[in-house]
This record gives sequence, C-alpha cells and structure tokens, in this order.
Amino acid sequence: MIPEIRSTSIPSIRPQAQNALPVAQASSTPTQSASDSVEVRPQSSLERLLAATAPEASRLEADLGEHVPGEVLVKLKSQPPTQSQNSFAQRFGATVLERFDFPKEIYQNFKGEMLHLKLPEGMTTAQALAAMQQDPRVEYVMPNNVYTLDDPPAENASASAQGATAEAPKTPNDLKPELWGLNNTGQKGGTPDADIDAPEAWAVTTGNPNGPLIAVIDTGVDYKHPDLVNNIWTNPGEIAGDGIDNDGNGVIDDVHGFNAFAQTGDPMDGHSHGTHCAGSIAAEGNNDQGVVGVNWRARIMPVKIFSDSGSTNSAAIVRGILYATNNGARVTSNSWGGGAADPAIREAFANSPALHIMAAGNSGSNNDTRPHYPSSYDLPNNIAVAASDRNDRLASFSCYGENSVDLAAPGVEIYSTIPGGGYANKSGTSMATPHVAGAAGLLLASDPNMSNDELKTRLLEGADKLDSLQGKVATGARLNIAKAITMEYEPTEKPTA
Ligand code: CA
Ligand code: CA
Ligand code: CA
Ligand code: CA
Repeated sequence: MIPEIRSTSIPSIRPQAQNALPVAQASSTPTQSASDSVEVRPQSSLERLLAATAPEASRLEADLGEHVPGEVLVKLKSQPPTQSQNSFAQRFGATVLERFDFPKEIYQNFKGEMLHLKLPEGMTTAQALAAMQQDPRVEYVMPNNVYTLDDPPAENASASAQGATAEAPKTPNDLKPELWGLNNTGQKGGTPDADIDAPEAWAVTTGNPNGPLIAVIDTGVDYKHPDLVNNIWTNPGEIAGDGIDNDGNGVIDDVHGFNAFAQTGDPMDGHSHGTHCAGSIAAEGNNDQGVVGVNWRARIMPVKIFSDSGSTNSAAIVRGILYATNNGARVTSNSWGGGAADPAIREAFANSPALHIMAAGNSGSNNDTRPHYPSSYDLPNNIAVAASDRNDRLASFSCYGENSVDLAAPGVEIYSTIPGGGYANKSGTSMATPHVAGAAGLLLASDPNMSNDELKTRLLEGADKLDSLQGKVATGARLNIAKAITMEYEPTEKPTA
C-alpha cells in the first residue's frame, strides 16, 4: 500500500485523526442505564448502524476529497433478484438516482450492478460510506467525486505563416505549417521530422467517414464547425428534435452524441477544449479550409462529461463512458484526469471493449510515484500519453513515468479547431492524447478488424525511440503513425504492457 501520496477516495486507506467532525448525530450515545428523566426513544436498525460506524465515519470524513454532497456511487455484488437495488437503498433511506447501464453483451466481465444514490436528509457522505461498506451486498462504495478540467498551460493565438510545403507522399491542401506535429520541416525553430509522419501514413489511408467510432469524452464538440461537421457521428436510430428517444438508448434526441453532465442529447461545446481535441483527431482534410487532423475523414462521437466551466463528477463520467461504449465507440479519447483513484470510473473503462487513450497530466510530475487517474490505471485496453514539443523534448509541464506512461505525442503549440468556426493553439497532454486516438482511428481505417492488442502494439512499438524520452515513458518513444501502420505485427502471447 502506498501511503500518503495516493490521495484516494476509497474508504479505509489511512487511519487519520480520530475526531474530525462530529458526524453522526443519530443518537450515538448508548442509552442504557434506565436512569429516568431522559426519555428513551427506541433506535431504528439504521440508527444503530450509524452509531456503530460513527468512528469509522469520522476517520473517512477527514480523508474525503471534494465530492457532490448527499450522493454516493455503490457497486453491489451479484445477488438473488429478490435482493433488489431498491431494498438496498431503502435500508439506508436513500433514493436510486440512476442505475448505470452495463449491458451484459458488451460488459461481459461486469458482475453485479452500479447505482448512483441520493442520501436521505441529514446523512453525510462519510456516514453513508462507513455504514454501507458494512453491508454484505456491497462490493465498494465511494463518494460522487468532483473533477475539474486539467487546463493546459496558457494558449497563445497563432500568427500564421504561409507557404511551407512538405515533400511527402500525400499532402492535403490544409496541412498548414502550424501543424508541426503532423509534419515537421523545421518551421519556427523546430527539428525536422520531430513529428508523427502523417503524410507518409496518408499514403496508406486518409481515414474513413464510415470508419470506427472515436468518442471524444470531454467538454463537448462544436459539431457544426465547418472543419468538423462532415466528420461527426450521426446516430442512425435517432430523429432530431421530436422530443422522443427514438432508438431507446435512454437519451432523447441524441443525434450527434450525448451531454452526460446535463443528461441531454446535445453535446455542444461551450468551453473549447473538446472541440480542439476533436480537430486533432479529425478536422476534415483537403477541404481547402482550416486544418487537417490525423484523419482526413472519420466518425467522431462527442460525449460531453464536463460543464462549460470545466467541472464534473464521477457519476457523469461513468455515464459518459457507458454511453460511448454502449453506442459503439471503438476508441475513446480522454484528455482529462487527476484526483483520487475512482473504482467506478476504472470499472467502466476496464470492462469496455474499446481502446481508451488517456492524458498523462500536466503537473510535470512522475506518475510512477504520484499516480494520475485514469491514465495510471494499468489496463490492457488503455494507453497513457505524455506531451512532446517541436524539438522532440518532453514538454516541461508533461507528467511522465517509466512504468505508468506509455509514449509521448505532440502536445505543445498544437493548432486546431475551436468553437464558432475558429482555430487556436493549445498546449497540454490533452493535445497529445487526440494525436494517439486519431492514430488508433487511422489504423482501424486501414483494417477495421484490428484487436486492441494489435492497435496497442502498433502504436507503442511503431513509435520513434528518442534519447530525450528514455526513462520518461515506457517505450522511450514518440508516436509515429506511418511506422505504426506499416510495421509487421506479430501477435504475442502476453498482452502488451
Ligand atoms: Ca516526418
Ligand atoms: Ca436516443
Ligand atoms: Ca428523437
Ligand atoms: Ca480542413
């Protein structure tokens, strides 16, 4: 067990100061001695449980991070149908806000059920955690943690230069010189070929408008942006604007994705972060405007998990991951993270058949010693991404980790789409991540049947090894999509790290 640094929301990690807040006021003093005067009300079984777990609640209270008050997420073990979710909620006077949708045919390894509960008036989160974890039906119970967007370092509007042409196998008319990450000819003091060799990969494929679904799990996407509009997923079973959930997937009028934060069918980006990520994955190529993404054509599914001010919680994140998976996402791009380990989020990712690309974080620290979630979850179907600059150095802000971060990708001064039809530079592992997600999409466009193991092997082993990244990321390498797409793949017995 790693002490201290791993600030975790999972109950029972480190015993701390005894008292903290006086949580339970639910008649905690044992009232035996029949000494008159005080009228003794008989305790309910819930009151007795709260009293018995009050010391544990006090300990947990001290450890709680920021969370939505009065709510918890609970994972119940598989149990006989008579032991329904309602009977569990009732025992604690709670209300079931939602039952997360883990379809058996997709989430084959998921057993039991995950609930989002509203606690009764007067019950604190710590009281609920302490009491519920005593219930034998519970696999785990956790707060509805609050997350904020890990904003990249200051962005600077780009002064565009014109004219540089790449000598490369296939070059679209919108491969602007700002796009050093796709093709670096040494512009603006960069190092020639410190890039992912996109034009060389485009000689093989430029993507597929009917190809694999790539979910951008973020602040939403401006799906009307002229450089994105043709590369946005349209839900085939949904009729727009009729107020009806035509395809029965639980969301009304989700024609172009899902707003998991507000629980509506409109994932419009009111921030800009998600739209920028989407453009790096698949701004439309060779359309005489703006920029090109790693894919000229693709299908992006916008899944909005953040409010427009950039905050969210565990329940909204799980809801978003499940929507993406349940509606067919093959790849997800996750430019967010930080905070405590979160068993519900981990479980939603781990059991999903999609490949999940995750940002390593922007605090410049070593994730091997100070984990950054979700990128630090060690799963066969995720990839953690650090950020490199136009000279193939690790970005100063980028988190790293020889064991816990897989590879680097361009993430400094990345030029891409922003809402309202515009373009801007942004920096962050948030910007590196969609390069890898886009590369996974391009690989799948070249062969839709690639397994996660093959995708991961190609992305990691096809990357360019660099001295600057040795000891910083597991591969010691920066993404190279051309090598990834052309290399020989030999299935290995063991899953790739
Ligand atoms: Ca190159
Ligand atoms: Ca629907
Ligand atoms: Ca509809
Ligand atoms: Ca374009």
